[in-house]
Amino acid sequence: MVGKALSPQEFIDYAWQQIRAAEALLARHQPVGRSCECGRPAPCPHAASLNERRTHYLRRLGLLEHTRPRCVRENEPGGGGNTQPLTGAHG
Ligand SMILES: [Zn+2]
Repeated sequence: MVGKALSPQEFIDYAWQQIRAAEALLARHQPVGRSCECGRPAPCPHAASLNERRTHYLRRLGLLEHTRPRCVRENEPGGGGNTQPLTGAHG
């Protein structure tokens, strides 16, 4: 494995490579009747895994809407606890 971290632009390039590669492979896994083009019975597990990979990277690129509700963290690392609005005006 390469030990260096990817810059944001490098990650985008990498993600698109993965997406295009997955799409190219998916083109050979189209359903034909009740089976896949590759000969496996549908649904093809290979196609499903390629679809997952493609979706994963599209999501990482922010191109798909999040299907899960937002993850609310109660304890942020490095946070200072609750941030409450300081409303001291009264009277
Ligand atoms: Zn297949």
